[in-house]
Amino acid sequence: MEKLKGVEEMKILVINCGSSSLKYQVIDMDTKNPIAKGLVERIGLPGAVLTHSITSGKKEVIKTEIPNHVAAIELVLKELVSPEYGALQDLSEIYAIGHRVVHGGEKFSKSVVIDDEVMKALKDCIELAPLHNPPNIAGIKACQKMMPGTPQVAVFDTAFHQTMKPASYIYGLPYEYYKKYGIRKYGFHGTSHKYVSQRAAVLLKKPLQELKLISCHLGNGASISAIRGGKSIETSMGFTPLDGLMMGTRSGTLDPAIVTYIMCRENLSCDQANDFLNNKCGALGVSGVSSDFRDIEVAAKQGNFRAQLALDIFAHDVKQFIGSYAAVLNGLDAIIFTAGVGENASNMRADICKNLDFLGIDLDLEKNKVRGEEVDVSKANARCRVLVIPTNEELMIALDTLELTM
Ligand code: AMP
Repeated sequence: MEKLKGVEEMKILVINCGSSSLKYQVIDMDTKNPIAKGLVERIGLPGAVLTHSITSGKKEVIKTEIPNHVAAIELVLKELVSPEYGALQDLSEIYAIGHRVVHGGEKFSKSVVIDDEVMKALKDCIELAPLHNPPNIAGIKACQKMMPGTPQVAVFDTAFHQTMKPASYIYGLPYEYYKKYGIRKYGFHGTSHKYVSQRAAVLLKKPLQELKLISCHLGNGASISAIRGGKSIETSMGFTPLDGLMMGTRSGTLDPAIVTYIMCRENLSCDQANDFLNNKCGALGVSGVSSDFRDIEVAAKQGNFRAQLALDIFAHDVKQFIGSYAAVLNGLDAIIFTAGVGENASNMRADICKNLDFLGIDLDLEKNKVRGEEVDVSKANARCRVLVIPTNEELMIALDTLELTM
């Protein structure tokens, strides 16, 4: 009979497939740390490249033809057992594979072990995420081909928000459109919101079930979530990840009439309008400088009015959501800042938290100088805590994968 492994021996491969990229980590579930990680870029394009590194810091860059996701997975698996740059003796050390899947629609409210029925349901969700779900499915199929006996789990960006109530997720449109097209708020970044909310409970030394939290995932893509008792009750991204906050290149929430107005004035097709709203708006469009908040901060310090305006809009947007979510939660124990901007941009955190004392928020400006560390940055007796918690979606995926396959 096959020997059951203890957690200390278990390694989980986490895969995150984009249309032409593939990010991976092998996580040792004993230490919860990655022992190998990397990125394949330009899959199916000229100039494909794999960048791979292991815990010792050793790094290898392989430039070779990588025509599709099967070839990418093949290359990654070969690298994982390579004598010089590998982290494993044998691929059988991989206990299970966890895949990030962007859209699970209404079908998936938690992570699932992948079987034929799940694969069919994933395909049914393609209509909702035409850019994201096909590469996710390609990655799963590639792993099934290369490691047929290894259990695989799908972890969805949308699943955490399936606890929202209809009053949160139904839009002011004819109800038939919800039934006919699945138009409703789904919410994204769920894996991150779930992870940081769990960490917040640890940091606050209180049961998650008793906490009212607002999680601010502020990266290139940004979303905010109201979390009561560990469950998402409201979130800022909607039918697509374009909704809510103004982001690096995405407009965020607009008066919907603006979309048709610009389409008419600029003669844009549906695809062009989609591309415009996703890639040419947001902080990039306002500042005219960059979509990267570091560049925008530099330009603002040099007196660039539009760069300062982009920063001001972002802080104002986040503050508005915090206020409305505190009302939805009917109270607030802590705000969590995570992702690139949330973890690193101390000025932005300070701007957002300014004049929120009515909620019991009192930032300690000294402690707030922190970057990328798990810290409570509020003053000792502040009623509502402000936490900086680096997100770790890969670990969350690995934990779900382990739980479902043990
Ligand atoms: P993410 O999507 O989570 O990788 O976050 C990317 C965003 O985080 C980019 O806009 C970066 O400019 C921003 N970011 C990263 N480090 C800093 C920093 N030290 N200060 C301000 N923004 C930062």
